[in-house]
Amino acid sequence: MKVPCPQCGGEVQLQETTGFVGCPFCATSLVLDLTGVRPHLLYRPRHGAAEVLPLLRRWCDAQGLPTPSSMSIPHLVYHPFWRYGAQGRPRLVPAWPVLETRWTDLALPEAEQVIYDPAAIGTAQLDEPSIVEAAARQRAFGGAAASVPPGDLVHVPFYEAQAMVGPHRLQVSLEACSGRVYPERMPPGARASGAGQGFGMTAAVLGFAGMFLEAMLIPPAWLAATLVGLTGVALYWMLVNNPGGRSL
Ligand SMILES: [Zn+2]
Repeated sequence: MKVPCPQCGGEVQLQETTGFVGCPFCATSLVLDLTGVRPHLLYRPRHGAAEVLPLLRRWCDAQGLPTPSSMSIPHLVYHPFWRYGAQGRPRLVPAWPVLETRWTDLALPEAEQVIYDPAAIGTAQLDEPSIVEAAARQRAFGGAAASVPPGDLVHVPFYEAQAMVGPHRLQVSLEACSGRVYPERMPPGARASGAGQGFGMTAAVLGFAGMFLEAMLIPPAWLAATLVGLTGVALYWMLVNNPGGRSL
């Protein structure tokens, strides 16, 4: 099978229907899923591992939280996102099944983006995408998905660490380009409101299960569409029955 390179238009010969390939004409890294072929980009970290604790201290201070008393050794992980530039502000959509709000409302990294190069990853962990581009677009834009141009795959570096903040053990992801802190949950006493995070455990489990099914690349389009629809209905039902955003 031959497909045109989205970067230069050259015809790329494909052996497989999914995976990573390089364009022989412009050397762009490409990612291939059942819905098409897209450029594969990478954000370069701007912060080193030694800066994680100072950045976390500053964040705790800004949140009115106690200074972290200890922190595990930060672990650099590149997480995959589909990136959409259309319709106002650019948007990152997780390319793996997850429903935690910290991953679904991410600011765009302030950093140089480069063509994906395995040499740049070094010994860091690289998570591969498991949700196809078209499914991510449908989830993020709903009925408008057809009018949104397909997204590019971007890998964004995060330092993952566990810290003791007061009496609480907190899992944090620190985005390695901008130094922004994304905690798994807001500890009690933090200034930022927890609203929007109290989404409800059942809704989270249902949503996760739905996204997991979508991620399995079910071939008949009508079946995938039905599953996406059912997930949406289930989530809507959870929200309507949980109007105050209380934890279930
Ligand atoms: Zn090309």
